Amino acid sequence: MQEKGNISIHTENIFPIIKKFLYSDNEIFLRELVSNAVDAVQKIKRLSSMGQYNGALGDALVEVAFDADKKTITISDNGLGMTAEEIKKYINQIAFSGAEEFVEKFKDAKDANELIGKFGLGFYSAFMVADQVEIQTLSYQEGAEPARWICDGSTEFEIGPGTRTQRGTDIILHVNTDSEEFLEKHKLEGILEKYCRFLPVPVKFGTRKEYVDDDSLKEGEDDTVAITEDDAPVAAKEDKAQKPARKEIEVDNIINNTTPIWTKPPSELKDEDYLAFYRELYPMSETPLFWIHLNVDFPFNLTGVLYFPKLKNDMEIQRNKIKLFSRQVFITDEVKDIVPEFLMLLHGLIDSPDIPLNVSRSFLQADSNVKKINSYITRKVADKLSELFKKDRKAFEDKWSDIGIFVKYGMISEDKFYDKAKDFALMGNTNKEYFTLSEYNDKVAPLQTDKNGTVVYIYTNDPAKQDSFIQSANKKGYDVLLMNSPIDSHFVNHMERKLEKTSIKRVDADVADKLIDKDEKIDSVLSEDDSNKVKGIFEKAINRKDMNVHVEGLSPDELPVTVTMDEFMRRMKDMAAMGGGGMSMFGAFPDNYKVAINGNHKLVSRILSAGTEEEQKQLAKQAFDLALLSQGMLTGADLTQFVSRSLELI
Ligand code: ADP
Ligand code: MG
Repeated sequence: MQEKGNISIHTENIFPIIKKFLYSDNEIFLRELVSNAVDAVQKIKRLSSMGQYNGALGDALVEVAFDADKKTITISDNGLGMTAEEIKKYINQIAFSGAEEFVEKFKDAKDANELIGKFGLGFYSAFMVADQVEIQTLSYQEGAEPARWICDGSTEFEIGPGTRTQRGTDIILHVNTDSEEFLEKHKLEGILEKYCRFLPVPVKFGTRKEYVDDDSLKEGEDDTVAITEDDAPVAAKEDKAQKPARKEIEVDNIINNTTPIWTKPPSELKDEDYLAFYRELYPMSETPLFWIHLNVDFPFNLTGVLYFPKLKNDMEIQRNKIKLFSRQVFITDEVKDIVPEFLMLLHGLIDSPDIPLNVSRSFLQADSNVKKINSYITRKVADKLSELFKKDRKAFEDKWSDIGIFVKYGMISEDKFYDKAKDFALMGNTNKEYFTLSEYNDKVAPLQTDKNGTVVYIYTNDPAKQDSFIQSANKKGYDVLLMNSPIDSHFVNHMERKLEKTSIKRVDADVADKLIDKDEKIDSVLSEDDSNKVKGIFEKAINRKDMNVHVEGLSPDELPVTVTMDEFMRRMKDMAAMGGGGMSMFGAFPDNYKVAINGNHKLVSRILSAGTEEEQKQLAKQAFDLALLSQGMLTGADLTQFVSRSLELI
């Protein structure tokens, strides 16, 4: 008997709404229906193992098929099936309380996941692509009759006797005219590949050819059906007597790996397994540096593998590569709020049924499980790095140029991570030596403490450009840190705030003698009068507003002229250049350099004793340009003039 009824929701027709709002995401209908099929198969297995079902289980299988002529897509399973009563209960009563609530809430729904989760619309996502959905099902229960349900996307449905003879369910979608793109092999394959690649039950999509040994083709028999061209080696062809010929057969094309590595205990896995899985996920990427296997049950359930990739220059393309799964079903590449920001460059995946998928972003951030997951991942990453550091420091140092970016970013952005990382974070100097924070402090404190007891760290962000400064600093016995990665300017600011009684200066922030103020006066050989004279000569020769001339008593072997920019000024400028929030007002900051003239240098006495004013000016100009040149600051017309002036002098 055919029975008619109404799906119990109070709005006349929600399906047009679903269709309209979820249109961009409509491919997920397949994920939802295949997941339901997988659930059904797992349920019958569980019933069987609990002794509540005694029939044969058969090989668990979910099959996806399509018929381009009939315009149908069918998702079949040999799961537990449903009785007509169960269809009424589970399919007809959409789990939400009323139309008003629905209409009120879907307005804020940003994507299909949100809506599906919130309202239990998994099955109904079928109506995004179909104008008729049919269920043919036979329950595992003894004496169950096959049932058929059909619905055209209005709130009316029909239910009656079905035709299925084996336990399980077929969901048949009569694809609507707007969705005919889904009646295409590659399209469906692509969607299955994306969402269903690691489902725990084999998913069959079509068939493929395989070549197998064919015993019937041994010795002397007709070999016309033997297919040997690509698979069998040439030798085998010539040697039919020993080696049987091969023939082509059709086998089920199973699209998924049902036991991906993150579902296995780490103790069962070798490095090769992790590397092979990495290649499976990111076929074009370089071998990762190392990985972390995540595995917790309590207080939330989370598994996964995170890989540290070799960093590329363009880091943006490496971001957002972590996939989120829920019970082996792919959900999204958007893990922004679940994985700490500083780890967004990691690759791999996490699988957790405890991450609410059906809520808005802001809710997600506030969710207590998500917070715990976030700090769990942070802790695991810190522990792994600490372990690597302790186990093999040399190897850790070798990888530091890649790892360092993560670590520094993490130290800047998460205090909890900082507390762990401060013991293994490394600082490298221009001699390619690496030190932990405390080792470094011990190393430089004796020579690099100023008159106030502050230890001054000196760094370069461009060793080629700042070479003369580095050499001067080294001559004084100072160590120079190499801080030339994109994150280092932030790291320097952060460390200065974190480290007590420590200040950090770029090597060109002042002449080497003045970088660390130890209150040691080097006397100037110049009288005050001569000093003023020298100042005047240079000011005239340079004639630039942004250059402030100072005559100082420096070591005689320091350069005669050095152009520097004060550390504070430079940081302001750097920040403005990065366009950081609110800093743009400093964009108009005029450049302001200090030109330090070494009063104790021979050249300065020579300038003073030069015959004519013109000669003095020319020498001063030449010395100044040389200083600019050594810092890569002499360009354009100034450089051309300098070259011709130099040629004349020769
Ligand atoms: P959910 O999967 O979150 O329960 P769905 O809307 O996807 O929500 O499915 C509703 C219910 O319909 C399922 O809980 C299940 O009881 C039933 N169901 C759907 N598909 C199948 C199937 N292939 N086999 C058996 N039962 C199914
Ligand atoms: Mg479902």
